[in-house]
Amino acid sequence: MNTVTEQISGSVSSAGRLARLGLAMRRYRVTILVVQWVIVLSYLALVAIPAFLPLPPDKAHIWNNLTRFAQFAFWGIWWPFVILSIMALGRVWCGVLCPEGALTEWVSKYGLGRGIPRWMKWGGWPFVAFVMTTVLGQMTSIYEYPKPALLILGGSTIAAIAVGLIWGREKRVWCKHLCPVSGVFGLLAKIAPVHFKVDQSAWDTAPSGHRTSRLHVVNCAPLINIRRMESASDCHMCGRCAGERDAVQLTLRSPGAEIISKPDTPENRAKEMDLWPARLLVFGMLGVALGAFQWSASPWLVTVKQIAAGWLIDHEVWWPLKESGHWWLLTYYPEANDVFTWLDGGLLLTYIAVETLVVGGWVWGWLRLTGALTGLPWQRLAQTLIPFAGFSVFVGLSMLTTSQLAGEGVLVSWAHVARIALLVISALWGASLAWRMAKRNCTMAAIGISMATVLPLAAWSTQFFVW
Ligand code: SF4
Repeated sequence: MNTVTEQISGSVSSAGRLARLGLAMRRYRVTILVVQWVIVLSYLALVAIPAFLPLPPDKAHIWNNLTRFAQFAFWGIWWPFVILSIMALGRVWCGVLCPEGALTEWVSKYGLGRGIPRWMKWGGWPFVAFVMTTVLGQMTSIYEYPKPALLILGGSTIAAIAVGLIWGREKRVWCKHLCPVSGVFGLLAKIAPVHFKVDQSAWDTAPSGHRTSRLHVVNCAPLINIRRMESASDCHMCGRCAGERDAVQLTLRSPGAEIISKPDTPENRAKEMDLWPARLLVFGMLGVALGAFQWSASPWLVTVKQIAAGWLIDHEVWWPLKESGHWWLLTYYPEANDVFTWLDGGLLLTYIAVETLVVGGWVWGWLRLTGALTGLPWQRLAQTLIPFAGFSVFVGLSMLTTSQLAGEGVLVSWAHVARIALLVISALWGASLAWRMAKRNCTMAAIGISMATVLPLAAWSTQFFVW
């Protein structure tokens, strides 16, 4: 360990400030672990305790009621700013702060240490897990009530611990293959201007004195082959490999670098053809998530519900108008006069499904057309929409922040204008990425990607300025 520290210290003089920060992350690993455990304990308390308390009274505030505080912490601060942080700093959240990652890795030290089964390596899990948790969260009103937060967030934590106990040794098998947000985070990290860069030739030619891994094996918990790492997608930015063989350095890059100028290797070409990340972006982030953010504000849903209820009454079909009675399936809080009927649940699911097909289908159609005109695979072109999809999710989550602040009397009157400005800028950013990515028909590439963003932009504008 001393040798590692000496070598790290020795290389500091020639490194920039950012590189020094990366090396410090490695050197002060214990400090990071302490921070992680503080977050683990705070997270467990905020997820679990409110679920066993009575619902907060109307006059409760963020500062005097634990349930309100936990809601604000999770939905007002945590989620929106985690999304933002990943676009800005890569997956530092995962490697340094995430309680689930810390727990699954810690328990895997003492677990069975089995090899990862084939079924777990299926590339569709991040999409399926993201859609299932998003939809179940809406059905159970996760933003408003602590029990569904315990069910979904706590359930995910228990699953992460179970996976850690069975598979992998000191690894984050859960994060790599099954975490419901790892797919989204992996996409967003591609545009982060900060990353751990690996110089393969320096790695291969490092003098024996610099081959620190022989003396102190780097444990890359998300199972990355560090020497061959070219993407920030899977890297949890934990800093444990910083300075390794004088070849790994925390450094800046252009935010579009990973999307535009990927080395033309067989591995990269195979990854480009992977459909699941593109499906997650198009039908998950710009489809299901959009529907989940919009259904409760939609006057169209109210109109359809009234028509459907009238029809059911006229035809004496009563069961859809009954409540489910199960809070873990559909919102059921009679004490707060907040109860979903089967009709409510069915319409909610239909709304999200229709918006997913219409908006996601629109985006997908333009990607296919643009792909046909430029000769690029649509799934590669989809990456140009990462900034737009990321800000779309951030904008949706930020509405929880401002609505909770409004409940406390803090009005952010400029929020909608700022949101639409962010979305337009990120759409233009996507068009410029497409223009640079295309080797022919560059203008068509930029127009095609701009057109792909028109319908989601219209959906957001309708919510902000019409409803
Ligand atoms: S490559 Fe692995 S060890 Fe290195 S920073 Fe990323 S997650 Fe950590």
